Amino acid sequence: MRIEDRLFADRFRADTKSHLKIIDPKICHKCSGKQCTYACPAKVYTQEEDGSVRVAYEGCLECGTCRIICQEYKNINWAYPRGGFGILFKFG
Ligand code: SF4
Ligand code: SF4
Repeated sequence: MRIEDRLFADRFRADTKSHLKIIDPKICHKCSGKQCTYACPAKVYTQEEDGSVRVAYEGCLECGTCRIICQEYKNINWAYPRGGFGILFKFG
């Protein structure tokens, strides 16, 4: 089964407030790797035309990859969503 099909089976209850925060957006401009934009399986981070990084936290799978991948600048403040919010995984 393709990953897209598996992700389609998941359900989200998005909070109004992001649980993921870029600590200093200016630092992303000088980050040449922009690893977050390709390492996140849910494509939560996307690079804008002006070089800034947008965070679509609503689709986060809570896998933790981005808290590790932003190694050089440690510019992501990572937390789980508040209780009752976030992803509901469905198996099978
Ligand atoms: S990897 Fe970190 S510093 Fe680089 S663009 Fe992403 S959040 Fe910004
Ligand atoms: S925790 Fe995983 S799914 Fe969520 S934003 Fe980070 S890399 Fe993407």
